Amino acid sequence: MTLEEMKAKMDRRNRMVSDARAGNDPICPKCKKGHVKCKGKYFFYCDSPECDMKLSMDPVRPKQK
Ligand SMILES: [Zn+2]
Repeated sequence: MTLEEMKAKMDRRNRMVSDARAGNDPICPKCKKGHVKCKGKYFFYCDSPECDMKLSMDPVRPKQK
């Protein structure tokens, strides 16, 4: 994976995470059917029963550019 691809991937994830935090129910990137919900500030999951997408953010991550 190139640095550009890595950055694009991070950007997509960050957008999904901030949408989920805002309650915008972004479409799950894994199944493309369910919606990403957020539980607390740092844990995200897909609301589709057939999908096991889970994402937890590290709350003590150093600030990224
Ligand atoms: Zn899903």
